This record gives sequence, structure tokens and C-alpha cells, in this order.
Amino acid sequence: MQFSDFGLSSVILRAVEAAGYSVPPPLQSQTIPHLMQGRDLLGCAQTGTGKTAAFALPILHRLQDTGSAPQNSASRPPVRVLVLAPTRELASQICQSFSSYGKHTGLRTTEIYGGVSQVGQVRALRQGVEILVATPGRLVDLMGQGLVRLEHVEIFVMDEADRMLDMGFLPDLRKVIAALPKKRQNVLFSATMPASVESLACKILQDPVAIRIAATPSAEPRIRQSVCFATKQQKPALLAQWLRRETTMRAFVFTRTKHGADRVARQLERAGIPAEAIHGNKTQSARQRTLARFKMNHTSVLVATDLAARGLDVDSVSHVFNYDVPVDAETYVHRIGRTGRAGAEGIAVSFCDPDERKYLRSVERLLGRTLDVEALPEGIPAAERTTESFVPRDSTRSTRTDAPASNAGRPPRKKRRFQNAGNGPGGPGRRRYNRD
Ligand code: AMP
Repeated sequence: MQFSDFGLSSVILRAVEAAGYSVPPPLQSQTIPHLMQGRDLLGCAQTGTGKTAAFALPILHRLQDTGSAPQNSASRPPVRVLVLAPTRELASQICQSFSSYGKHTGLRTTEIYGGVSQVGQVRALRQGVEILVATPGRLVDLMGQGLVRLEHVEIFVMDEADRMLDMGFLPDLRKVIAALPKKRQNVLFSATMPASVESLACKILQDPVAIRIAATPSAEPRIRQSVCFATKQQKPALLAQWLRRETTMRAFVFTRTKHGADRVARQLERAGIPAEAIHGNKTQSARQRTLARFKMNHTSVLVATDLAARGLDVDSVSHVFNYDVPVDAETYVHRIGRTGRAGAEGIAVSFCDPDERKYLRSVERLLGRTLDVEALPEGIPAAERTTESFVPRDSTRSTRTDAPASNAGRPPRKKRRFQNAGNGPGGPGRRRYNRD
């Protein structure tokens, strides 16, 4: 199927061509025709599958096709499309996509989200926008101030509905939905389909078309997934080794906590590997600067928490490292989806400590298979005796004090469950870390 087969307007096709898209991926082939007809849609798909274009292209077409809605008193176009997304980053990306695909249509798009001043957002709203992309909290805030009106919304999209519910946005969603006109087209995308999302979908969608794409990463042959058994103390050295490999071009490192993300980024910086952390404690502008530097390759390693990384669209991420195995198996699916995007190949490696084995098991249950095991590479200090940082010994900073926690004071392990066999010629007792 070609983009020209969908019946999209010529100005939209021109923008699609300019974006370099030649073939629609399966999600777009299955979604666009239904949305063009005005059907409601329930899509189970992750980011990276071409989801944004799948709804943005037909929406832009329909807005053009159906002409303009009644202008408000100041002759400004009202909001005709509302897209809700859980995070600022995702809202921003969706807004950029609408602007880029709709650049020849004359339709205006703006984004609103919290964590920044509302002044610019209110100014854009006052000038009039047809397409509004918002996070629920700030939207409800502006609605409460009488600064956003939704009575002319024709199409309502909820992206990453599962994450919005996880983040506790349900009360805000209810307020938004109550402010929408009854007659409208609805689109709901979710990476996973827990009962809470299904129940939301039942309330919102009318006779929807249901589409499901690549529900589990095992259906993603483009991503090579493996696990490396390493203790907490070994993980810093292991990560540094992986990141120094020539094949590791650009990497996401996931940690469970914000504090953990900061710590890993600091450790990498000290080891001479440019890295930055991105998480919810950072201001929006700091997050955007970090992301921009990563996208421009000024830093090649982004250490992120799940929430911050959700929906981030960065091409050419060669590796995803699960520095901590996620507690929730579905989070694993989201994390590894940061690589292998837009048809590229990717590598996802999980570092698993003995305490994380149970989480690994639930990931493997979800995947329906066990992950390949990577042996610990040569040069990683043995589990029990590691007390030093992964900074090479010849480095002037090798005496840093915030080295990975020492085993001192812990009871000796009775039985080694981990593979230290991969320590190579230096043997498991080898403590020196070699820069490769
Ligand atoms: P998304 O799932 O919307 O986050 O999109 C993932 C990536 O795929 C983005 O970088 C898009 O620019 C890209 N993309 C979307 N549709 C196509 C297409 N038809 N051909 C090539 N790349 C695409």
C-alpha cells in the first residue's frame, strides 16, 4: 500500500514525502482508512510503530475536508482537535508532527503542558488554534481559568492512555471529557490494554475499530534482547564497558529511580563517558536542553527514569540498557521500544542483580521466552570483592569516593548464583578494570 492510496489531500502527501516516508508501516495501513471515514478507533501500539502519523495524517485531512468550524466572537478558529498525552515530551513530539505533516494546510497546532509558565501557551490559544495537544493537568488548569474552550472539538485523541491512568490522570480526564461535545470522533491509543484502559475505552468509544500491533517485543525481531547477570556493584563497570564499545552509538540507560539516574550519569561522567540524566525532578527547560543535546549527539548516553523517557522519539538509538530490571514487565516493553525504531536494528541488554531475578522472570513470562544470557565481559571485578569504582586505575579520578557500594559489612553469600565465569583470563578475583 502507498500513501497515495489513502486519498489524503495533495498538500498532506507533499508533507509526507518531505518527511521521507515512502511506505506506510502496518499500523498506518490499518488505521488511516478507518480514521479517514470518521470511525472511532482503539489502537494497541507502542511509540515507534508510526503511531503519531497514523492518527495525525487522517485528522489533518478531515479538518481540511470538513472546512472550518464556527469562528468565535473574535473570528479566531476554535479548537477542533484535542490530543491528550501523558508527558510533556510526548505532547511536544505530537505537536511537532502535526505541524510538520500539516505545514501546507494552514491549520494551526499548539501544545500545552505543565512545568513551564502558562503565558506563552495562553497567548497561542488566544491567537486561535485548530489542533491542541495537551497534558491533562495543565489543560484542566487552563479550563478552570476559562482560557480553553472545548465545545467545538470534533476529534478527541488519547495517546498512551495506559500511562495517563498510571500517572493518576483519571480525574482530570473525566473533567476534560465532560467538557467535550457529545458528537465527536474518538481515538484511543495505548501501549498495553489493562482492564482500566478497556473500561475507559468502553465509556468513550462508539463502535470502535480495534487494531493491535506488536503487542510484545518478542514480535520485534529488530531488537536483539539479552540479559547479563551482574551484582549492583558490578553494574557500573559493566555499563561503562558496553558504552565504550564501538558499536554502541547512542544509548538509553534506564534506572528505576530519579536518584539512581543521577548517580549513574555522574558515575559515567567520571569515567569519561559523556552522559546526562533526564527525569521528573528536572525542570522542563533542563529536560528539553538535555534531550536536544542528545538528539544532536553532543551526549551519546541518556540515563532516564521510565516516566521521563516514555514516548521519547529519538532515532538511531543503538542500545537500551536496563540498568535496573523494571519491576513491571510491561515497562520493559516500553523501554526497549526506544531502540529499533523506524525499521532500524537495536540492542537491549538488561543487567540483572540476584534481587531482580523475580522481575526478570515476569519479563520473560510476558515475552513467552527466556532472554539470551551475555557472559560478564573480561575486566569486570568479581562480585564479592568489588570495592572500587569502574574508573580505570590509571585515571586521575580513580580514587573517587562515590564508588559503587562496597560489600563490606554484608554477610557472605552462601552460594554463587551468578556467572562470573565470563571474567576471562584475569579470573574472578581480578579487580583491575581495563579500558578497552
Ligand atoms: P511514532 O510511533 O509516532 O513515535 O513514530 C516513530 C518514528 O517513525 C518517528 O521518527 C516517525 O518520524 C517515523 N515514521 C512514522 N511514519 C513513518 C513512515 N511511514 N515511514 C518512515 N518513518 C516513519
